[in-house]
Amino acid sequence: MSIKETDQRYIAHTYKRFDIAIAAGEGCICYDDAGREYIDMTSGIGVNSFGYADPVWAEAVANQAKLLQHTSNLFYTAPCAELAEILCTRTGMDKVFFSNSGAEANECAIKVARKYAADHKGAEYYNIITLNKSFHGRTLTTLAATGQDNFHTKFTPLTEGFLYADANDIEGLEKLVSENKVAGVMIETVQGEGGVNALDADFVKAVERICRENDIVFIVDEVQTGNGRTGKLYSYMHFGVQPDVVSTAKGLAGGLPMGATLMSEKVSDVLSYGDHGSTFGGNPVCAAAAISVMHRMDDAFLDEVEKKGEYIRKRIEKAGFAVSGLGLMIGILPKKPVSEVLAACMENGVLCLSAKEKLRLLPPLNIPMEQLEKAVDVIIEALK
Ligand SMILES: *Cc1c(COP(=O)(O)O)cnc(C)c1O
Repeated sequence: MSIKETDQRYIAHTYKRFDIAIAAGEGCICYDDAGREYIDMTSGIGVNSFGYADPVWAEAVANQAKLLQHTSNLFYTAPCAELAEILCTRTGMDKVFFSNSGAEANECAIKVARKYAADHKGAEYYNIITLNKSFHGRTLTTLAATGQDNFHTKFTPLTEGFLYADANDIEGLEKLVSENKVAGVMIETVQGEGGVNALDADFVKAVERICRENDIVFIVDEVQTGNGRTGKLYSYMHFGVQPDVVSTAKGLAGGLPMGATLMSEKVSDVLSYGDHGSTFGGNPVCAAAAISVMHRMDDAFLDEVEKKGEYIRKRIEKAGFAVSGLGLMIGILPKKPVSEVLAACMENGVLCLSAKEKLRLLPPLNIPMEQLEKAVDVIIEALK
């Protein structure tokens, strides 16, 4: 059987895959099983921060794998301690909980908000407000957090206690907060799966203010926007706010599964012994990968991310299409079905993504200008 046939026969049909088997890659280039070359504008949905098989990243991973791959969380290990220190130092947060995915990072954030509220205001303050068109994960609780009805219908009953506000509607949020007993508000500063829509700066500021005024835990889901993707280490840094909890995953370990929930001093002692755990959380190999990624994301690197994002935006806008997003998290509104644009890009050797009706670009953060120019040429042709 071909790869495709074996996959279709033995793997649950939850993914509508593109008709390509990726066999290998190097930087922003990947090859299918017939050796055909593509420029990758997907980075595994914002995961491979430094592209495929980056040599610095691969060495960090290999060295740690040869030394110690796993211990359980019953023991101290150096990589996760060092990574936690880096994350706290660079964000001003106080403590970290490590997990393996974005959904788990959000589960932890939600548990922190509920326990904080129970400790300070009473257990009836359990509601979490999220935004319509948000995406927070696939577990039953993070599906409930996801503000899109189509995710809710098939798996009821979902976890109770989630309320939804419209993005950028400050009055609507204030009304929800005043009429309900609320533990936390969770937002993505740029809604990724929801269509690459950046929130208004005023709204993000207002979310912080409303949370402070009501002693509500302010959570920013940085699973997709974090780790340099938007041109800042974490996207909230564009908005001049300081969240109580930041969840992240995708690009953190540059291609290995790792989630992190960062907690500010206000909530960093909410979880105590036995309140939460994860067998693989803080895995030494994943942590070593993330340390390597974090070390390379200095200010000069982040400036480059911002500049490359500007380059794409300018060229696409000049070609007559609306662009949304921040940094190298980009949405483009095509004038024909996005599936046609994706197919034309692929036909011409460029891999892209979609989000709702938009073309979505999440290239590796270190994509060289030469390949970026080529990819944008192909994308503009495909949009025509
Ligand atoms: C991808 C994503 C998630 C879910 O992450 P998983 O690792 O797939 O569980 C959650 N929130 C946002 C904003 C995401 O983009």
